Amino acid sequence: MTNQKKKILIVEDEKNIAQVLAFNLMQAGYDYDIAQDGEEGLRKALKGSFDLILLDIMLPKMDGFTVCRGIRMRLDTPIIMVTAKEEEIDKIMGLDLGADDYVTKPFSINVLLARIKANMRRASNEVVTGAKNSAVITVRDLVIDNEKYLVTKRGEELSLSKIEYDLLSFLAAHPEKPFSREELLTQVWGYEEFYGDRRTVDVTVSRLRAKVEDDPSHPQYIFSKHGLGYYFA
Ligand code: CA
Repeated sequence: MTNQKKKILIVEDEKNIAQVLAFNLMQAGYDYDIAQDGEEGLRKALKGSFDLILLDIMLPKMDGFTVCRGIRMRLDTPIIMVTAKEEEIDKIMGLDLGADDYVTKPFSINVLLARIKANMRRASNEVVTGAKNSAVITVRDLVIDNEKYLVTKRGEELSLSKIEYDLLSFLAAHPEKPFSREELLTQVWGYEEFYGDRRTVDVTVSRLRAKVEDDPSHPQYIFSKHGLGYYFA
């Protein structure tokens, strides 16, 4: 027997939701494990070799934000945050927790499965971004080294999450060309179709600007094209 099933950790205190998730993941051909509070979630995440983590925010013992940070200090496993409230999305992104994606409850299971698939593909570098075109991209003070997966600004290494790196590298590989949010979700996030949530792109761009730009409100690298999307120059 070979065991090549991908394994997903469900961190969720509401038993009904956890069971529905588990059932659907199993149906979709995944293995899973469930953690019912934040502490257990962090412990299991750090111990087990999971391919992806579904992380609720409101959890007993330790909230999802803390769990996410704790996982990120040690692992690059893709994390999809599960939020109950719209307002939490800004917090997820604003805190720079290193989460890869989010879904808002109530979510459609098909959308969630598609997001899971996309995030796993991206994590395993199956999504070919523009990064593969040139090894090193230098634009003024910024150096994007696609061989070392490293971005430096005036010689100092920037601490970017994988999705931030992928986005920057993709945009920089196509200078001056604006990409719509939908295009970026397909090309960088690896979504196979559009799932109707463009905000992931906007919040990732704003996080990226905060790290890359001297003055994020007057960007010199990542520009917005009104009504179109984003481009690098
Ligand atoms: Ca909860």
